[in-house]
Amino acid sequence: MADGDLILVLGDQLSHSLPSLAAADSERDRVLMAEVRDEATYVRHHKKKLAFVFSAMRHFAAELRAAGWTVDYVPLDAADNSGSFTDEVARALERERPARIVVTEPGEWRVREAVESWSEAFGLPVEVLEDRRFICSRAAFEGWAEGRKQLRMEFFYREMRRETGLLMDGEEPEGGRWNFDAENRKPAGADLDMAGPARFEPDAVTREVLTLVAERFPDNFGDLEPFWFAVTAAQAEAALDHFIETALPTFGDYQDAMLRDERFLYHSILGLYINAGLLDPLAVCRRVETAYRAGRAPLNAAEGFIRQIIGWREYVRGIYWLKMPEYRERNFFAASGDLPGFYWTGETDMACLEAAITQTKEEAYAHHIQRLMVTGNFAMLAGVDPKQVHEWYLAVYADAYEWVELPNVLGMSQFADGGLLGSKPYAASGNYISKMSDYCGACRYDVKQKTGEKACPFNPLYWDFLVRNEDKLRGNPRLAQVYRTWDRMADEKKAAYRESAARVLESLS
Ligand SMILES: Cc1cc2nc3c(=O)[nH]c(=O)nc-3n(C[C@H](O)[C@H](O)[C@H](O)COP(=O)(O)OP(=O)(O)OC[C@H]3O[C@@H](n4cnc5c(N)ncnc54)[C@H](O)[C@@H]3O)c2cc1C
Ligand code: SF4
Repeated sequence: MADGDLILVLGDQLSHSLPSLAAADSERDRVLMAEVRDEATYVRHHKKKLAFVFSAMRHFAAELRAAGWTVDYVPLDAADNSGSFTDEVARALERERPARIVVTEPGEWRVREAVESWSEAFGLPVEVLEDRRFICSRAAFEGWAEGRKQLRMEFFYREMRRETGLLMDGEEPEGGRWNFDAENRKPAGADLDMAGPARFEPDAVTREVLTLVAERFPDNFGDLEPFWFAVTAAQAEAALDHFIETALPTFGDYQDAMLRDERFLYHSILGLYINAGLLDPLAVCRRVETAYRAGRAPLNAAEGFIRQIIGWREYVRGIYWLKMPEYRERNFFAASGDLPGFYWTGETDMACLEAAITQTKEEAYAHHIQRLMVTGNFAMLAGVDPKQVHEWYLAVYADAYEWVELPNVLGMSQFADGGLLGSKPYAASGNYISKMSDYCGACRYDVKQKTGEKACPFNPLYWDFLVRNEDKLRGNPRLAQVYRTWDRMADEKKAAYRESAARVLESLS
């Protein structure tokens, strides 16, 4: 293929509309896909996540072949698998002698750096195409961010609404408001009917992958089976249909709720498919808008859902590329504690953490509020090193890729970026969890007790966190009221909070 191109397709680029494929010629060019050890091991990914990515890659390669492409597919267990993208590309260049390497821009900094070194290393042109599966290009985000003191998601989101025309009524937002979040904070009762996500029986390809993962990654975190994720675009599309029909109408109302026996509530469980390329984010949003316009979902649900995708998802990606690589090193509170061991086992008396971590272990999934207000909140209050928190999140969720995980963890949940993403830390005492969930009823701790042996650990940790970081937070106008409350507290009570917090922190080490 001396005059053809080598098209490298990465594991999160499983879209037939991928720019590098759209620009290629299936008769002349060759596709390279590789399951490489470096990517599988740079953090100890959840077993289900590994199985999902490898199975979806294998199915995608088969679909490409059926569509007439020549695909060089290097499975993880191939005897000659070199273990890295760079070495696999080197081997393919030896074999195929292509004229150029073509790749759609990688989602992660680490991989992009490798790709950028290839032209010099291999002495041939490397074309990196913009990933048009995102609505806002990196350059457009930079343009939006330039000169702004604060990069607030809400303003970015409005631009995306205007640009896509989603939920617009001429120049105005549908329903007269941009954001219906105020209606989306209802706690859920166990009497609600929740269908849960669409589940798919593993086929022969997936079963082979399950065996591979079980053999090669026996000590990684998480349960491999039962495995029920979609692994093809057609299945992911069926999962989208199922979500729109069964959960979208109530998605908004209970978006922040948590229930012990309902792990998925009305969430879509589509993030892993969108991030891997099996679903196109804009097409998903258009389907949701259509359901709203047909009267099959209320505006607060459709708006809430669309905001997560064209707002938050695009925004965190913009932040990632704007601020990397220094972003990864941020540690605003200089937190240095170790991640408690129970994050890897779920074995803790704190019922909320036990529930969120156990479900993470079993499903490679927890929804946004569990990630933010339970595991994230606790790690921040306890002063855990944000890098360790980041590595945990990157490993344990099936939808975790650094470009989306890092700003959510470092920025949104740990405030380690000092307020680039949020105007104040998402710090909360047990009261928030009690209000939004049914966890506290089954807990050994008492959420109403503020200090002492039986007190919910979130309560003293909350105040201790604010006092420990007073020099960094007292000037924040959104925390002025909270610090006034602390100032008015009797010295005895203050001391009791700090003693209780010290006991909790000691028990973690
Ligand atoms: C600490 C923390 C870590 C997170 N790590 C990840 C991660 O590794 N990968 C990831 O995709 N999301 C991450 N999120 C965002 C969000 O929690 C997940 O996207 C969501 O829980 C996925 O489940 P779902 O598909 O059921 O989402 P739903 O609740 O149904 O939301 C619909 C879709 O909106 C998008 N979305 C929602 N919130 C966000 C957000 N904050 N940032 C980006 N996209 C969003 C996702 O594509 C999601 O599928 C994280 C959030 C927090 C607070
Ligand atoms: S009492 Fe505290 S630790 Fe227990 S479930 Fe409630 S918030 Fe979590």
